[in-house]
This record gives sequence, C-alpha cells and structure tokens, in this order.
Amino acid sequence: MLAKSHISLGLLGGIVAYPLAQKLGVAKEFYLTLLLPLILLGSLLPDIDEPKSFIGRKFPAISRIFSISFSHRGFTHFLIFPLIFVALGAIFAHDIITPCLFALAYGIFLHQVGDMLTISGIPHYFFPLFRKKAVLLPQMLRFRTGSVAEKLILIFILTPLIALSAIYIFDAESSQILNMQKLKEIDRILKALGEIAL
Ligand SMILES: [Zn+2]
Repeated sequence: MLAKSHISLGLLGGIVAYPLAQKLGVAKEFYLTLLLPLILLGSLLPDIDEPKSFIGRKFPAISRIFSISFSHRGFTHFLIFPLIFVALGAIFAHDIITPCLFALAYGIFLHQVGDMLTISGIPHYFFPLFRKKAVLLPQMLRFRTGSVAEKLILIFILTPLIALSAIYIFDAESSQILNMQKLKEIDRILKALGEIAL
C-alpha cells in the first residue's frame, strides 16, 4: 500500500477509536495532540524496512539498518512487532507512556491490515508460530500497491469514510443530529472527489 493510503487508514482508525478512548477516560486534547499523531506515525512505521518508502526517505540511516537486517515486509510487518509495543506499554503501566505505546501499536497494526489487502499480503505474519501468508481478501479482490484500484479505493472509499466518521464522531459531542450544513459539506466533499477521479 502507498504511504497516503496507510495514512488514510491510520486516520480512519484513529477517528473510529476516539469514542473508545473517551470511554476509557482519555482527554480529547491528549488524544488529538498526542495519541492520534502516534497512530499516524505507527501507520507508516513498518515500511521503515524499505529505504525508498515515504518513512524510509525521512529516516534514511535507520531505514538502511532495518533494510539490511530484515527483508521488506519482514519483521516490522509481523504481528510480533506491534505486540512488542503493547508489552512495553503494559510493563511501564504509566499514565502517559502506556497510552502512547498502545497508540503506536494500533497504528502499526492498521498498517499491517492495509498490506494484507494487497496481492502480496504479509508472508510469515505469525512468525515464529507458523509461516502462513496473511491476506484478508479473496485473490480477485486484492490489489497491487500503487495500482489504479488502490487509488480508486483511496478516493472513493477511504476518504469519504474519513470525512463521514469525523463529522459523525466529532459532531456527536456537541450535537446528536447531523444538520443540513454538515450534509451539504459531505455532498461538497464527495463532488470534489468525483471531479478529482475524472
Ligand atoms: Zn508495509
């Protein structure tokens, strides 16, 4: 998956998880200024194993170390990678550090889910337990990274979902009713997306 698709999936996951964070007593300010950016960082982090990736180009030295040590879609794409951050969070059991590590792990997991939608999936995802390749879709629905299909999914599924979930979830705090102004806004966004796609 492309970096912008991963960021979009991370953003969608971050917005959708917000009500749960509120139920757990996480302050809105803390969520939006710290946890959401960490989810987005996590949603890019596994591709640090590829120096040509968006995050690999941002941190070339670290990326080179990872690319020499592991193959692409290797260790940073295995289930064990986010679980390390979950375990560290549980060990620290700290009011701020633990939610930060959990947010990072969640973002990494969302990245992995995105890659599981592609043709190559994630080989050896459950390392070291078993070697099966992890994919989420039947063969005919999987897409190639950077393909037209991925771009169409980004424009017509992910972006409208982000807009809708942001409006529903963040609007629900001040008003339970989706008012006409918001509906017009959604309509405008969808029309703009349609124009870009054409
Ligand atoms: Zn990846």
